[in-house]
Amino acid sequence: MEDSLDRRYAKAVLLNLYKLGGTAKKVDLVSSTSGWNALTQLLVELKNDGYIDISEHILGRRTYEIKITDKGRAVARKFKEAEEVAESPADQEAEGVIHIDGEEINVALTPEERENSKYLKFLFHFNVMDNHITVEEAVPGKRSRIFNIYVKQNGHGIFRLWCEADDSYQCWHVREAWTYPQVQKMMTQYKGKVKVCQVCGSENPERAKFCMECGAKLE
Ligand SMILES: [Zn+2]
Ligand SMILES: [Zn+2]
Repeated sequence: MEDSLDRRYAKAVLLNLYKLGGTAKKVDLVSSTSGWNALTQLLVELKNDGYIDISEHILGRRTYEIKITDKGRAVARKFKEAEEVAESPADQEAEGVIHIDGEEINVALTPEERENSKYLKFLFHFNVMDNHITVEEAVPGKRSRIFNIYVKQNGHGIFRLWCEADDSYQCWHVREAWTYPQVQKMMTQYKGKVKVCQVCGSENPERAKFCMECGAKLE
């Protein structure tokens, strides 16, 4: 039988669960996968292979509590150790990592980027969907510019910050932006506010029943 851990996202889900203290609701884990359908299927497989237990509660609505087993914990601990080794290159300072929603985000700046970050100004005028911040960059000797950093799904369907100036999820503007509490809050609020269509991947308002892009029924 194929082991569920070979599957895409399985490690991310187990690791996330471990970092959340071993117990979580489905909604806490969905950002580790491509979406609800993928998560639901994966959880069944992880359970069948003995890495997690799933219990069902009816509290007004049906909720599922996911709990890591001893077997799952032992494996997740190994993943965590491997991740720590991989994420600590010699030139990265200890403070170069922050934790948001159980995920580690790399925010390390090079000395030059740190020097330039003095000339970045973040404007926290949120738009209606509260999905971006505006950045004013006025680095001496360079043309000054204004651009936005958006909350956007990356290629794995995970919400990240995306800089329109660099078309990047990890340019130094993004790494610097992550360190602002207002930005972290925007990210958390935005993730809780949108429904991602399982068919086409587009983002819909919380209350939408059907996808505005493709018309598919939203979960
Ligand atoms: Zn940038
Ligand atoms: Zn859609």
